Amino acid sequence: MLLVFGLTAVFRTVSEGTFHCPQCGGDRAYRRRTGRRWFSVFFVPTVPLWRLGQAVECRTCRARLPVSTLRIPTAQQMAEALAAGMRAAAALVLRSGDPADAAARARAIATVTGYGEPAYDAAAVDADLVLRRTFLEQEVVQAGAHLAVEAKEWFLAQAVRIGLADGPLGEGERSALHGIADLLGMSRAYALGVIVTTEGAAR
Ligand SMILES: [Zn+2]
Repeated sequence: MLLVFGLTAVFRTVSEGTFHCPQCGGDRAYRRRTGRRWFSVFFVPTVPLWRLGQAVECRTCRARLPVSTLRIPTAQQMAEALAAGMRAAAALVLRSGDPADAAARARAIATVTGYGEPAYDAAAVDADLVLRRTFLEQEVVQAGAHLAVEAKEWFLAQAVRIGLADGPLGEGERSALHGIADLLGMSRAYALGVIVTTEGAAR
């Protein structure tokens, strides 16, 4: 009788979730799979051999990718970090000026909702105003980590417009804006350029 021997790879799913697939470029469902090589007889795995390590499989394009791919933030996570960062920047700017000013608050609400947080309202502004400075600063840093240079410029310009809503920038507001630029990783000279340009455009 003829025996057919061979080696077969058997994979099983250890976890599932959503990741950013670098292959097909988008937020996709994935399966994290672990494999083992088996000795097979008549194509039936019979004796377990060595482990094959883990891989991430995109459910859309079927690409097998290294587990480290899961560290790439999803588009959804980036959008959330950005909205949270703008929220924090708005609170820092409002606090450095007159946080009760109606025009400045309205501008903050319009800006943050524009960054994708539709539920941000007057109550949310008040809640953010009493948050710890270090927490707010951290949120700005995290948003900045996802932004290209041009997007940082836009982000800072939005914060400047919040500061300008109640009139010309005061010393406190100016210093808060430079602080935000610094958290975004912008140089002082670059930040000054963006602030002055935005002030000029608002006149
Ligand atoms: Zn894919």
